[in-house]
Amino acid sequence: MRQWIQERLKRIAYYIPREFWYGPGCSRQYLRLKRMMHEDPGVIHRWQRKRFNTLARRLSRRSDYWRKIFHKWNHAASSMEWREQFESLPLLDKRDLQSCLEEISVDAGSPGTRYMTTGGSTGIPTGFYLRTIADQQKEWAHICYLWSQVGFRFGGLNRRVSLRGEILPGNALALRKGHELLCSSFHLSKENLPRLMQVIRSFRPRFLHTFPSAALRLAELLAGAGEGPPRGLRAILASSESLPDKLRYELERFYRVPVYAHYGHSERAVLAGGCRHSPSYHILPTYGLVELLDERGRVIREAGRSGEIVATSLTADRTPFIRFRTGDFGEYDEGPCPCGSPVPRLKAVHGRQQEYLEREDGVQVSASLLNLHLDILDQVTQVQFIQERPGAAVLSVVPRPGTGRLDRKAILRAYEERLGKGFLLELQVRDQLLRTRSDKTLLVVRREPQE
Ligand SMILES: [Zn+2]
Repeated sequence: MRQWIQERLKRIAYYIPREFWYGPGCSRQYLRLKRMMHEDPGVIHRWQRKRFNTLARRLSRRSDYWRKIFHKWNHAASSMEWREQFESLPLLDKRDLQSCLEEISVDAGSPGTRYMTTGGSTGIPTGFYLRTIADQQKEWAHICYLWSQVGFRFGGLNRRVSLRGEILPGNALALRKGHELLCSSFHLSKENLPRLMQVIRSFRPRFLHTFPSAALRLAELLAGAGEGPPRGLRAILASSESLPDKLRYELERFYRVPVYAHYGHSERAVLAGGCRHSPSYHILPTYGLVELLDERGRVIREAGRSGEIVATSLTADRTPFIRFRTGDFGEYDEGPCPCGSPVPRLKAVHGRQQEYLEREDGVQVSASLLNLHLDILDQVTQVQFIQERPGAAVLSVVPRPGTGRLDRKAILRAYEERLGKGFLLELQVRDQLLRTRSDKTLLVVRREPQE
């Protein structure tokens, strides 16, 4: 009986917009961001400085690791000096997180903290700690702001179909959770299309939240069946994959609504997205600080020059991401945006392209689907897929030192679930992975078959 009541309550809860569950902190963050996006750059900088100083003070009080880094930090420094000090702080990368996570993290064992692992688009699985409630609040408030650019209403119903690689219980095609309809992108096929579209059309979605590649597959299936997009759609909310202009154009032409893309990470140090006037990625100033560094580690300030995106979270204080190397590359867009916001914008984000595996039936499985958040991956430090022909790939893994015997079967099973039936995956243990000429380790390496 109790379980029955719990189930009912859970179902009712799904109908209440998430922002209400997260409490007043979520709306405060949303309103602050909305205001800050159009503030004077000096005001934004002062706010960020104050935020970062508070974080620095807290970290130096709580940890030896950060005390050493901040021991000369001048909290009252002028704007110029502050920037100089900031840019001389050490960089943090995924390998640091792997080798000394416990030293870097602060109060990791305290209540309300959870551990999270991520495969990451660069193929180096990392673990980190975050605050369960506060970090979700922040994330959702900022995402809501981005999506508000295409009609998403904070506190509104915003019926949306999610097509993002969810594996649904009982291998189901779709599952309704209040105002969200989760659909399985693994089931996107000619045979399933009528059933899937019946569910989607009767749900009357306003938004389609999807990987760009899944939206394209759905569009191709619908076009093949002589059907149009669901009626009443207001926008496609695309994320987790790069969105080349050509793909954006194809999607907008078919769905006849704007395609809205944002850029972010599981580590939550940077979040950026387009506005009503421009698709270039406006860096959200209350979320984090972004720098671009050239190959010699110098800060790039001008538009048009590509550099590695290095991000600093202004809130993460369990595992602080300070000058964190994301492994993605971007360049600043020129001039002010017609929307009037003075925040810096990234014109393009590279580094995630070509990151998909091709199945035998031609379906492309995006790298974001291979970005597994599983404890089993703690056994390895890096993973990489090498694909020479559709339907098969070599999964190279670098074992974490001192792990002992790898649970090969469990690792393979985890990925095979994502890749679908019939995909041939061979696991190889390596000392190091293949790297690109610019020393990047890609999650997916595609190459010609070798004789
Ligand atoms: Zn703008």
